[in-house]
Amino acid sequence: MQVVFLGTASCFPTANRGVSCIALRHEDGFVWLFDCGEGSQIQLQKSCIRPGKITKIFITHLHGDHLFGLPGLVATISTQCAVKPDFILEIYGPQGLRQFLRQSLVLSRTELPFKYQVHELMPESYQLPEDWENWRFDLSEERLHPQELQGTQISARNDVWTVIEQKNTKTSVLAGHNEHLRIPSYGFVVQEPDANGKLDVEKLKSLGVEPGPLYSQLKHGKDIVTPDGKVVKSNEVLGPPKKGRKITIMGDTCNSDKMIQIAMDSDALVHEATLENSMVENALEKGHSTPGMAASYAFAINAKLLLLTHFSQRYRQSNEEDGPRLEILQREAEEKLAELKHSKCSVVLAQDLLEVPLYRLST
Ligand SMILES: [Zn+2]
Ligand SMILES: [Zn+2]
Repeated sequence: MQVVFLGTASCFPTANRGVSCIALRHEDGFVWLFDCGEGSQIQLQKSCIRPGKITKIFITHLHGDHLFGLPGLVATISTQCAVKPDFILEIYGPQGLRQFLRQSLVLSRTELPFKYQVHELMPESYQLPEDWENWRFDLSEERLHPQELQGTQISARNDVWTVIEQKNTKTSVLAGHNEHLRIPSYGFVVQEPDANGKLDVEKLKSLGVEPGPLYSQLKHGKDIVTPDGKVVKSNEVLGPPKKGRKITIMGDTCNSDKMIQIAMDSDALVHEATLENSMVENALEKGHSTPGMAASYAFAINAKLLLLTHFSQRYRQSNEEDGPRLEILQREAEEKLAELKHSKCSVVLAQDLLEVPLYRLST
């Protein structure tokens, strides 16, 4: 599994940096995308990710720097996708996302060679600001886009939205509330199932068991009888199961306390760090976080890896640019973790097109 950062800037894209878009590449090669800011498809073309491999898209919140690339990207996938007749592009995000995408595709008369479906996370009352009514959108239009299938409405239970349910071998996704600027924002927790351990092939050969269907039975925990009548117990030839990875990807946030429980023990936490610690008031006013806040959260959920992203345009990435350097943000997060004595968590500063591998550990 691999996390690929396609855009790491906040607010708007520049010549050097794209806005929020993160790809999660699974072992089977399929890709889930988290957010899709303006210009994300240009970033995709520069990356190792093939648009035709994208099967699911998750949108954390409806601010433009996380959303405005979505209709264009969906149209691009349609030209690059080797479409199977039953392929459905699944899209998940806040209430209003369905209308946004439908109207964009209908007004531009964009036809797709596959079906798509938008599942909406229904907001809880504490997520809605006082002026919410002034910005209320019209949800009465019920005519679907020609390739659209009716999506579902996902309501919270005890502050948790079950986006994709855990079923045996399937990866599950839960969502929780991120406090942000006058708009519902969500963090997503992706949990892989545990995988079977590795078979000791040498030992099996010495017992006279050749590769074939018996291997599969042993791998699934079943004892077998060899053709010459010997019993081979699965636990004698099977290594320990490999733990499924857990990765938490936050939307823009200045407080994610409501999702500490579901994010607990994440192998990786992707968290915004828009402004440095000394600008905390400014960050809070805009509903954002500092590296110190991100590190405190990594400590609170016992994360092993903290990936910082969503940087203000004030930080320069190359020597040619003016302004403070991005490395300040990494140093501040590391200092906070040291202060909290959370030494097993390392900090990585994301940059556009950075690929971060996540390995499975044995249980
Ligand atoms: Zn943003
Ligand atoms: Zn935002």
